[in-house]
Amino acid sequence: MLNKLKFLGTLYIYKLQGRLGLKRWDIMPTINSYYRDDFRKLNRNDIAVILPHCLISSKCPAKFSKSDGVLCSKCDLCGCGKIRKAAENKGYQFYISPSVGFTKRLTRRKNLKGIIGVACDYEIEKGLHSENLNNSGVRLNGTRVKTQGLRLHVYDCVDNHVDWEKIEELM
Ligand code: SF4
Repeated sequence: MLNKLKFLGTLYIYKLQGRLGLKRWDIMPTINSYYRDDFRKLNRNDIAVILPHCLISSKCPAKFSKSDGVLCSKCDLCGCGKIRKAAENKGYQFYISPSVGFTKRLTRRKNLKGIIGVACDYEIEKGLHSENLNNSGVRLNGTRVKTQGLRLHVYDCVDNHVDWEKIEELM
């Protein structure tokens, strides 16, 4: 109950900060804590680590699949390869998505129950306005998933960076 009140209060202030044009704090730790217990009960093969394509190297040699996104070959030109290895070793699915729309369709197609994801402030804000969050999870394309997420440091679409170690901690 306390966790839910904290979550709703933080969400309210986060949206208010946006309406007032104020700098927003990082809401991801609150969302993570809200879903953490239920997330840990999921089967790992029903969970996917999904990274945004802004994290891949501009020299990335990977091919693109219409169904599975960027097919990382673990070449180590960027940090995604290391995350892919770690995710697969732990039994998670792994994808690199070109867009939020693709991620939503992927979630439904793969029947995902949980997502470990990374997003920029812009996408987080857009998602919180358009997607419905409740006890059952985040609603994505008509299906509910429990999420554990991380915010990108920079709002940039090319050669972006994230705290790679924190992604591994979320796994
Ligand atoms: S590690 Fe994967 S995503 Fe990164 S550049 Fe290499 S193939 Fe592309």
